Amino acid sequence: VEVNEENHIREVQNVIFSKSYPTPLKTEIKLAATSRDALRNVLDMDEEIVQTEHFLLIASGNGILRGYPPLTHRYGGYQFGTWAGQLGDGRAHLLGEYLNRFGERWELQLKGSGLTPYSRDGDGRAVIRSSVREFLSSETMHFLGIPTSRAASLVISNDPVWRDQFYDGHFKQERAAVLMRLAKSWFRFGSFEILAHYGETSLLGELADFIIEHHFPHIPPDDPYKYASFFQEVVEQTARLIAMWQSVGFVHGVCNTDNFSILSMTIDYGPFRFMDAYDPKMVPNTSDDENRYSYENQPEAGYFNLNKLKLAIIRLLPAHQQFVLKQILSGYQDLYTGYVVHLFCRKLGLPDVKESDGELIDSLLAIMKDTKSDFTMTFRHLSEWNLDLSSPEVSNSRLWTLSHLKSHEPFRDWLELYRKRLASSHVQESQRKSVMHWTNPRYVLRNWILEEIIQQVEKNDFSLLQQALGIFKKPFTDQIEAEHCQRIGTRSSRHPAEMT
Ligand code: AMP
Ligand code: MG
Ligand code: MG
Repeated sequence: VEVNEENHIREVQNVIFSKSYPTPLKTEIKLAATSRDALRNVLDMDEEIVQTEHFLLIASGNGILRGYPPLTHRYGGYQFGTWAGQLGDGRAHLLGEYLNRFGERWELQLKGSGLTPYSRDGDGRAVIRSSVREFLSSETMHFLGIPTSRAASLVISNDPVWRDQFYDGHFKQERAAVLMRLAKSWFRFGSFEILAHYGETSLLGELADFIIEHHFPHIPPDDPYKYASFFQEVVEQTARLIAMWQSVGFVHGVCNTDNFSILSMTIDYGPFRFMDAYDPKMVPNTSDDENRYSYENQPEAGYFNLNKLKLAIIRLLPAHQQFVLKQILSGYQDLYTGYVVHLFCRKLGLPDVKESDGELIDSLLAIMKDTKSDFTMTFRHLSEWNLDLSSPEVSNSRLWTLSHLKSHEPFRDWLELYRKRLASSHVQESQRKSVMHWTNPRYVLRNWILEEIIQQVEKNDFSLLQQALGIFKKPFTDQIEAEHCQRIGTRSSRHPAEMT
């Protein structure tokens, strides 16, 4: 479907993609940042290419690859529990697919690249603020070892974009940015749902077969249970992803089915947050009035979304097989619990999982909640603390989360249980510390860090962004650079009460 200047936005049927061209940026186009790692290890590109005008043309949407018309994807979704109809790539263009030296296929997408047939009421643009957030957070998520889309480059311009600023009710002029982002697939749960919703069952089957062939090649195409096997994997991997989010205190913020990747990786970074003080009710999205997507509700949101995916896929199955999908979905809660307990046991340096470990973890989290302890630093400091000493040395002000807890009665009791539990698995103190050191990050992309970086980028100063990219590449390693970088290091090692 060609895009016509006068007739952009419409509902279409029986398509998965529409041809659509990016709208060029006009003024003061600048390459604000690139991820050297994403470019090198996903796209096999070195720095010299990035510095060329050709790269800037592609990365800004001002040029396209000859012979490869960009595509926009039609999808739907359940937003905040309600069917939202046709959504689709309203501000993103798929540039193509790249087969890299590792034999991996990656899809290149621009985000913020202008109107598409799926823009609905939107302007097709992304502002600097949200683009910096997605650029940096997806890269840092990767280095935390959590499945995620990647970001290759961030281009900013002086083109005006008007955005509603909720807090003062005024419109504020912001500037347009374009992100080049990468994923092995950009298909979402909503990619299936829209076809099911409109009864486009044969296209739904084609999409499912395509995804199985390309991304689940170990499922034989002639297996009569292939869709059930596929669903089983999505259920498992979604449970695993959400458990990973919980293990680093990440709250996505908009767990709608259109933002859930069919390959179970983190996509569509919007008003997400990494928690400071542990608060299971934390909701990063100010427009989530019902607190639907709080930290503690994420596993349930995963279940809701998988159930909607099930209702789409079920249309591909003969009646006698449909109960299989229900059975698979009913295993979600146990799968999730298994993953999350395993991850938190590792966070505590435990080599195995025992029946009572769920309780041990829950009671620590309850203490952290009552004392408003910093999520990231409590685990990090536990990894640095010498438990061998009968009266642990917590006067060390470096371990501020623990000195904060030292006179807390329930924490002392918990420590005794923890010591006994470690002893029951014969965990050496050095082994515990080392496992915990490489499991509990020292640096997560806290909101106030992002805020400071955004302010700098909005002033065309990209140095803090570059510095942050370097630091968050090694989130488990204490870095002098971070301690010296006022804005990133020192504040995250202070008492939570001092944090904004
Ligand atoms: P999101 O809440 O960002 O996941 O977006 C939900 C839907 O709204 C998707 O279909 C987006 O493509 C679309 N959308 C978000 N922002 C814009 C925009 N500025 N212009 C056009 N479409 C947008
Ligand atoms: Mg989205
Ligand atoms: Mg979006």
